[in-house]
Amino acid sequence: MEVKLKKLTLCLDMFGCPNRCRHCWVGHPPNGHMTVTDLTEIAAQFRPYASEFEVFDWYREPDFKDNYKELWELRKQLSDEVML
Ligand code: SF4
Repeated sequence: MEVKLKKLTLCLDMFGCPNRCRHCWVGHPPNGHMTVTDLTEIAAQFRPYASEFEVFDWYREPDFKDNYKELWELRKQLSDEVML
């Protein structure tokens, strides 16, 4: 029997954050360097397991990289619904 979630939100932090704010509740893990291909392929792996799917390319700083507008469009393509 295949289990399908009602909704799945996948948060990947493609680049991280350039800051190290003392008050940050997310923490300071190392900054990554995920590619658009990485994000697309990982999203495709999770997508079949939910009726509604949303992927984030960030969970720290969404505007860290110069291509943030392109990444926003990619998020919209890969997600059923984009909240923020
Ligand atoms: S994610 Fe926000 S609060 Fe945390 S270190 Fe980066 S800029 Fe500061």
